[in-house]
Amino acid sequence: MAILPSQFKFLEYALTQSQSMSAPRAIMASDTEPRASVLLDRELGEALVAWGRQIRNDATIIAGVNIHPIYESQDIEGSELVEICLPYYLDASRVLNPKAALKVVWACNYCDRVQAQQTANLSVERTDNFAAHLTYNNEWIVPSSYTQLLKQFGLQTRPLENTKDSVQVLIDQSVSIDESYPPIIPYGNPCPGCGLRSLRRNRGVEGNPLDPTFPGMVIYTDTPVTIKALDVSELVFARSVERLHNPRISNVPLHNAGDLIDYHHISLHYYDASPIFVAKTALVHKLLESGATGLAFRPLNIATAPTT
Ligand SMILES: [Zn+2]
Repeated sequence: MAILPSQFKFLEYALTQSQSMSAPRAIMASDTEPRASVLLDRELGEALVAWGRQIRNDATIIAGVNIHPIYESQDIEGSELVEICLPYYLDASRVLNPKAALKVVWACNYCDRVQAQQTANLSVERTDNFAAHLTYNNEWIVPSSYTQLLKQFGLQTRPLENTKDSVQVLIDQSVSIDESYPPIIPYGNPCPGCGLRSLRRNRGVEGNPLDPTFPGMVIYTDTPVTIKALDVSELVFARSVERLHNPRISNVPLHNAGDLIDYHHISLHYYDASPIFVAKTALVHKLLESGATGLAFRPLNIATAPTT
């Protein structure tokens, strides 16, 4: 019988005594179900999952687990490129002045895609020189001490408005997501204006979250995205042309492409429409060797031949 690791005794009451354990199970997480977010090594994680899989009251103790693997240097040995992602284990920064620093215009008459151009230095929430990390606003912020190292890889930086401790890395290169591979799912009809479809990233699932009679534990986890074939020797740090979002799409014009967006639509550029970020593995290794923290990355697949 699997034992709950002693570090997680605090979870036991919430997970075994809650109302949701005796009621028919709603597998999809809701606000009424107890949840906990924990950072743990692989061994403890496996022990926790084994404990949570045990059946009590006709259901597993833990209904669902959302796993965000944290990769380390040795996990990406031998790969050319990796995906850079939001660090789940620290409080990443936000950009404080998007309205002042960006000119954002509608990109299409028929859908809510936007195009942004940076016109001033960014101000960021954290100014304590603590980590090289992606912000919640899809910007890459690194401690100023890495400026030289980045330059050796051909990357330019831009000062921040409210601190000298960190700088913004300019991202000029782009890659294209290959939508024909999971976990990327295109859906809905193409926009009549720009022809683009909505894209989302599916999280790999063990178990069936849509079956309310399913008594087992559902496990969600990340699987690698595939980008279209490209010459990796040229690539240092890039963002994808495609964004993972579901913009409003209409058969009649919604606005004029090129017009400035109103400020409450700024999330269309930032929070609601994330590109993926790709970095040369050699750069990531160098940053890690230099003591960079906060750098979250995942394996990435590259399509073997150009797709049409
Ligand atoms: Zn469009």
